[in-house]
Order: sequence, then structure tokens, then C-alpha cells
Amino acid sequence: THFGFTNVPESQKESLVGAVFSSVASSYDTMNDLMSLGIHRLWKDHFVRTLNPGSLLPRRENDTTGKGWNILDIAGGTGDIAFRMLDHATNINNDYETRVTIADINADMLAEGKKRSVQTPYYNTQRLSFTEANAESMPSVPDNSVDLYTVVFGIRNFTDKQAALNEAFRVLKPGGVFACMEFSKVDSSLFNAVYKRWSFSAIPLIGQIVAGDRDSYQYLVESIEKFPSQEEFRAMIQKAGFLTPGTGYENLTGGIAAIHKGVKP
Ligand code: SAM
Repeated sequence: THFGFTNVPESQKESLVGAVFSSVASSYDTMNDLMSLGIHRLWKDHFVRTLNPGSLLPRRENDTTGKGWNILDIAGGTGDIAFRMLDHATNINNDYETRVTIADINADMLAEGKKRSVQTPYYNTQRLSFTEANAESMPSVPDNSVDLYTVVFGIRNFTDKQAALNEAFRVLKPGGVFACMEFSKVDSSLFNAVYKRWSFSAIPLIGQIVAGDRDSYQYLVESIEKFPSQEEFRAMIQKAGFLTPGTGYENLTGGIAAIHKGVKP
């Protein structure tokens, strides 16, 4: 396959991103492990632990969305984050009510997640659902209905990131939390040089050898390079209306990835 990503007009970007994720869906997990040397698993565990899903929520008046947390996992693809959040709620907080909706724009990624969910206790229960949706506009999700909105290694691929942040703000309840983990900017120039070498030469090569698809992984590396810095992204979150407690973000592994959080006032 050749997607020819250089100088793609914005209007065509969405279909190209679709082609990338259709192409990588089945080899996605293996590739993540290889490219990150397994570190993405530690980041994901940390992300979920700090959110502590299923812990006691402050009581809100006139809340009709039920007990437990109503979580929307955007760009949830293969369910990696959703299953971890449900496991955390169940095993750490003894909460059997918290539920996650996995939303993704790509039917192949959703199909991969559904297939994997068969191995989990949440298969065919009220606690897990799947929906094909574009994060930039989700008319099927009501205003003020979500306790926690997560987007992990997804927003970098969105065409209109600000639109997605505005939509996150709309669907969250007051007091609800926006949480995003994404590749970011490395904070040391020496480490950055090593990291750039790894990402620009090794990752496309691993993509070619393991997944038979160099171009998709070339695209993924370039999209990391183009994504805003920690501070720029925080400003976009604030622009959507969120409060960003503390510095608003936490760097992981020297800034290779960062977790941003926002609270809807
Ligand atoms: N969250 C998962 C993880 O960390 O393993 C999957 C991340 S995967 C790198 C990125 C996902 O974003 C893909 O499944 C892709 O289909 C989805 N995506 C891209 N653009 C989207 C959009 N506009 N709305 C919703 N999902 C989108």
C-alpha cells in the first residue's frame, strides 16, 4: 500500500487516516509493543491508575445517568484503555456499575476491539458498548452526560482537534474530567536526538518488516512530530473551556508522551 502522505490536503486527510488504521488494525498490538519496547503498557496502567475510575463520585443533583461512572473512551480502537478502566473499577474499587462506551471512527479498529472483548468479563454486558463515531461531532452523545472522557494516542490523528476538544466539553457533566494521553515533546535535547533517530529510522523499518506496511508507520511518526507541544495543547484544552489544575499535564518518559487533564467547571 502507498498512502502518499506528503502534502495531503486537509480534506483528504480523514480518508487517509482511515486507510492507515484499517491497515494496521490486526497488527496493532504487536507493533505497539515493538515500537515502544513495551513501555506503552506501563503508560496505560499509570494513566488508568491516576484516573481511579469507579471511585466514589460526588453526588450530583438530578443526575439520571445511573450509578458508577459513565465513561466515553474516544478513539478507543482495540479496547486497550476501556478494559483497563473496567478492570480497575471492578478490582480496585469493587464497582460493578461503571460502564465504558468505546467510540472510534474506524470500523476495523472497533471490530478488533469487539473480538478482544470476548476474552473479558464485560463481553455482552451493560458495562461495555461500541459505537462508530467521529470525535469532532457526536450528536448521539447528549450534553452533560459523561463523567470521564478519555482519548489515548488518538487526538493526534484528528483533522480538527479543537472541534474534538469542544465536543468533549459539551458531553462532559460539570465536574467531569477530560483526560488525554498522547505523544509529546521530549524535554532534553540529548534524549531527543536518540529518540528522533529511533522513531524516524527504526519505526518505519519495523512497520515494513513486521506489518508489511512502511508508509502507515511513517505517517504515525510524522504525526507525532506535528502534534502541538505540552503548553500549546494545554492552551487548546483551556480554549475549549476546561480548567487545567496544576501545570495541566504530566510528562512520561522524559516527554515522549504526556497526560493532559481538564475539568469542566
Ligand atoms: N486508544 C487506543 C490505544 O491506545 O491503543 C487506540 C489508539 S489508535 C493509535 C488511534 C485511533 O484513533 C484509531 O483507532 C483511529 O481509528 C481513531 N481515530 C482517528 N480519527 C478519529 C476521529 N476523528 N474520531 C474518532 N476516532 C478516530
